[in-house]
Amino acid sequence: MTSDDIRRPRFPVGVSRPVVSPIQPSVVYASVDADALDAQYEGRTKGYTYAREGHPNADTLAGMIDALEDAEGGLVTGSGMAAVTAALLANLKAGDHVIGADQLYGRSLRLMREDLPRFGIDVTLVDPTDAGRLAAAIRPNTRMMLLETVSNPTLRVADLEGAAELARRHGVLLAVDNTFTTPRALQPFAIGADIVIHSVTKLLAGHSDATLGYVAARDPEVRARMHVLAATMGFTPSPFDCWLAERGLYTFGLRFDRAVATASRLAEALSSTTGVRRVLYPTRPDHPDHNRAASLLGGIGGNMVSFELDGGRETVNGFLRAASSLSFAPTLGDVNTTISHPASSSHRALSEAERLGLGISEGFIRVSVGCEEPDALIETFVGSISRGG
Ligand SMILES: *Cc1c(COP(=O)(O)O)cnc(C)c1O
Repeated sequence: MTSDDIRRPRFPVGVSRPVVSPIQPSVVYASVDADALDAQYEGRTKGYTYAREGHPNADTLAGMIDALEDAEGGLVTGSGMAAVTAALLANLKAGDHVIGADQLYGRSLRLMREDLPRFGIDVTLVDPTDAGRLAAAIRPNTRMMLLETVSNPTLRVADLEGAAELARRHGVLLAVDNTFTTPRALQPFAIGADIVIHSVTKLLAGHSDATLGYVAARDPEVRARMHVLAATMGFTPSPFDCWLAERGLYTFGLRFDRAVATASRLAEALSSTTGVRRVLYPTRPDHPDHNRAASLLGGIGGNMVSFELDGGRETVNGFLRAASSLSFAPTLGDVNTTISHPASSSHRALSEAERLGLGISEGFIRVSVGCEEPDALIETFVGSISRGG
């Protein structure tokens, strides 16, 4: 065998086809001649050129998420934050104003607070559960709103219908990060959102083994701007991660439905557990947004449950050690249940007063419910609270 023999692999092709998508890690794609390349660049033929500009595994995954969100031409990015960044930077310029929810995902909040102002973009953060506050924040140069359907970690439900109406009236783009909610509970495009964003890393991929994002827009021009920006800035996803997410996505519906059913039972069990001060779950009658959870989310409360232990750090540590069979890890949407403690992780940069203002005490625990056997999982929580707390 000479070195030439290994230069260009020849794939064996049979008359049958594989039922699983191939992984295509190729960075470059060879064309027949310059005319063929012209045809490709001019969109007369479909082909790939360079993986940063797009590749088959990203497009396969994007098509699957498009189907879930009833979207067209969605873009898969190398992380959820790349999707958030693409949505903002492709549509904003110096002198514009953007409104964000005051409880956005930590990094999104940082991007809005610290980074956009450096580029001359004004930012106002408001409580998105009240469309009146969103309306009051609108200025003549407001170009965009970035909201999350359900907030972290207090699980407040945004007034997306009010926001969509406002966005329409003022010609503002409404971008909705639908990560916590998923298209199974709400398709933001159906209620008038212009842009939908996901951290695919979470529930859609579902196994904590791929870091990916997704962003789609209704308007083809907005869509094209985001695609170009992502290729220029290098927000490209890894083909292997896309392939893992594709595999994860086949079971997304099953995983989500199971997790939601368990989450609502867990919320119920916690509400009568000694040592639990309060439980937050969007569809429970004592949740401040339960009416909106019923109308907007069709009564699907999601897989996230938050609760407050009666006590401080000691009580929290006792509970976490007693519940050591569950991962204490700041993520969500995994097949396995994960627990996070916002005061020491996602919200540690805030002062105690700011945290308390958001309702996040030292005893506050956020749970991402997974697909375990429900009775055993609930017993782990209830038992660990009584043993540890
Ligand atoms: C995790 C998350 C993100 C960021 O996604 P990454 O894939 O971690 O970059 C954005 N928004 C929400 C709501 C998230 O939960």
